[in-house]
Amino acid sequence: MPRPILATIHAPALRHNLARVRRAAPDARVWAVVKANAYGHGIERVYDALRGADGFALLDLQEAERVRALGWRGPILLLEGVFEPRDLELCSRLQLWHVVHCEQQIDWLAAHKTQQPHRVFLKLNSGMNRLGFAPASFRAAWARLNALPQVDEISFVTHFSDADAERGIAHQARTFAEATRDLPGERSLANSAATLRHAQDPAVRADWIRPGIAVYGSSPDFPEHGIAHWELQPTMTLASRVIGVQQLQPGDTVGYGSRFVADAPLRVGVVACGYADGYPRHCGTGTPVLVDGVRTRLLGRVSMDMLAVDLAPLPQAGFGSEVTLWGRASNGAVLPIDEVAQAAGTLGYELMCAVAPRVPVVVG
Ligand SMILES: *Cc1c(COP(=O)(O)O)cnc(C)c1O
Repeated sequence: MPRPILATIHAPALRHNLARVRRAAPDARVWAVVKANAYGHGIERVYDALRGADGFALLDLQEAERVRALGWRGPILLLEGVFEPRDLELCSRLQLWHVVHCEQQIDWLAAHKTQQPHRVFLKLNSGMNRLGFAPASFRAAWARLNALPQVDEISFVTHFSDADAERGIAHQARTFAEATRDLPGERSLANSAATLRHAQDPAVRADWIRPGIAVYGSSPDFPEHGIAHWELQPTMTLASRVIGVQQLQPGDTVGYGSRFVADAPLRVGVVACGYADGYPRHCGTGTPVLVDGVRTRLLGRVSMDMLAVDLAPLPQAGFGSEVTLWGRASNGAVLPIDEVAQAAGTLGYELMCAVAPRVPVVVG
């Protein structure tokens, strides 16, 4: 009998969330961002639910090959473009559209032999200072690309640093509008946060939106807004069971470092899930968890293979009880991944990407 831990990917929730982001930008086309193996969900597991997208955006050429192997004939965009000249051969062969963010990538294209001219997305660094041409060199990069026989269509892309937060996107959107003014071609600016918070502006939704995290049922601007506010559904449940029960007396402690000390008699459930499963070790006492679909709390330190939960609110619960670490319990109760991530000082993104290979995964 395997350990009772299990991750479930919810295909209907993926469909729902994709429809939700589409509704936020109804006249834009949607890149479903499936980088990092579909944010830890597994490209092959999400493909069927997300094939209603207009394209798939990702980073890794092997991931692009996997999407083509699934039968996808529509657009695929390499968000960081190519990493070496040889990658352009794969772009030609698999008809991948690719971002061009630096001079080296233009040099490689200029030297690339192909019958099949490429569609490229020229990237502007509008203030994030990660990838992209600075505004001052953007026109020259466009002119170089535009003169290449290897390129048949140029689109424009930029990325926001503060779409989820107070600083917002207006300054970057303005820089993008100025840099691309009068240049012909499609435009793409918005990630999940910009789509949900700012897509009422037609210049922000533009021709293509690029939602990732919202599709995977995590709120891009938590804790300001949770998934209920954005009408998103969890797409991943991490569940396990109680495999042991301890009865504590006042003064008894739980786990390594004795970080939790009981001040009253307390029943504790020991759960088959630990940091070697991808549950964050930084979660401490008080982190929310569902037992039999009822909210309770983590106690003490997370160990490699186990963690402990407070069974005081659950007199009926005990050995074998269902434990939902995040996602949706059998009774329908939801524990957003964002709340667990917050308790660990991180984001839903990191947790869903970090579920360990030893955890079995099913699509439900
Ligand atoms: C990851 C990524 C996205 C998606 O971002 P979310 O915050 O997950 O919506 C969009 N665009 C680019 C360039 C990215 O790297």
